[in-house]
Amino acid sequence: MRWILLLGALIGPSICSREKFFGDQVFRINVKNEDEMNKLTQLVNLDNFMLNFWKHPSAFSHFVDVMVPSISLQPVKSFLKSKGLEYSVTIEDLQSLLDNEEEEMQHNEKKERSGDYFNYGAYHSLEAIYHEMDRITKDFPGLASRMKIGHSFENRPLYVLKFSTAAEEGRPAIWLNAGIHSREWISQATGIWTARKIVSDYKKDPAITSILEKMDIFLLPVANPDGYVYTQTKNRMWRKTRSLNPGSRCIGTDPNRNWNASFAGVGTSDNPCSETYHGPHANSEVEVKSVVDFIQAHGNFKCFVDLHSYSQLLMYPYGYTTRKAPDAKELDEVARRAAKALASLSGTEYQVGPTCTTVYPASGSSIDWAYDNGIKYAFTFELRDTGNHGFLLPANQIIPTAEETWLGLKTIMEHTRGHLY
Ligand SMILES: [Zn+2]
Repeated sequence: MRWILLLGALIGPSICSREKFFGDQVFRINVKNEDEMNKLTQLVNLDNFMLNFWKHPSAFSHFVDVMVPSISLQPVKSFLKSKGLEYSVTIEDLQSLLDNEEEEMQHNEKKERSGDYFNYGAYHSLEAIYHEMDRITKDFPGLASRMKIGHSFENRPLYVLKFSTAAEEGRPAIWLNAGIHSREWISQATGIWTARKIVSDYKKDPAITSILEKMDIFLLPVANPDGYVYTQTKNRMWRKTRSLNPGSRCIGTDPNRNWNASFAGVGTSDNPCSETYHGPHANSEVEVKSVVDFIQAHGNFKCFVDLHSYSQLLMYPYGYTTRKAPDAKELDEVARRAAKALASLSGTEYQVGPTCTTVYPASGSSIDWAYDNGIKYAFTFELRDTGNHGFLLPANQIIPTAEETWLGLKTIMEHTRGHLY
């Protein structure tokens, strides 16, 4: 008995209870035409294979990435063969990648605790990110402050960093959102890196200096804290919130289908067990509602950027219709310049276009809500990579990703500053 207790104390409850993915693989399946797409849809609908889709086909990349549990490997391979669908294995052993990631993280946090610093080239717990937000405000008290805009379903605080050089409230503002889908860890990591970059470069980089002289920046690095904690304690592949669905055994809503923009329309599901479940009604998720309430009460946001992964895409409205947004021409021009600036650092290529035809139709998304509520400069980044690691982007790519993304973000923010309306 004492042994078990001791072992539990040494290993910690989180490691013991984390879901394992021994022998699970990720397949990339090529889809060349409508006929093949229909065959693939049959696969999607076969619940007993317990597939988890990482990436659906889009206008630019006619393939899907799908996580296949080890027990389904043979049947899925047979299915693909019988339908004549081409595939390759992109991740041979998911669990070994997860083991490496977890080990690296723990090693880093131990080092950080003893040295009292924050390694921006590593993934972190929610607690460590919140602590670093605090430290940024202490290092730059006249520039950065931390605000609590609400709390999550499981009652974790939703913290936003406000960067402002003026005392007056309600200046034209920029909203930077990260981590709304919890498994997209490069998003939260890029978010916190960006916070440090803003305070370090103010008064050094003329671009960010002139943006902050006219505008305030608000940054929410972990928009779905319950999901984020869950990815680190229970299931690394968790995407949704952790809210309960009465009458269903399934947990959570897709917080990027929950905004009041063509709610429950194309590209969403009314099944609580689906990864794209839109929720019982718009803003049902307290994490979404807190942001909506904050932005509406403020009333002067001009720019809204949402960071996701993966695929290397830069998109603007709409996701819920193929109809062109009234400002599509200008948004496309800005996005192309941003993608070019991003690529200038190390050649990372992004595809640019409206969400609906660039990735896939998606209703109830954050940037469509922002755009339809008067925030013209609304963009979604799908960060690195294009599928070699997918959601499990190695930590040594955090800083290169954040640095290049910053060039894209800065292009968008500068354009906004120059075109206040
Ligand atoms: Zn996402």
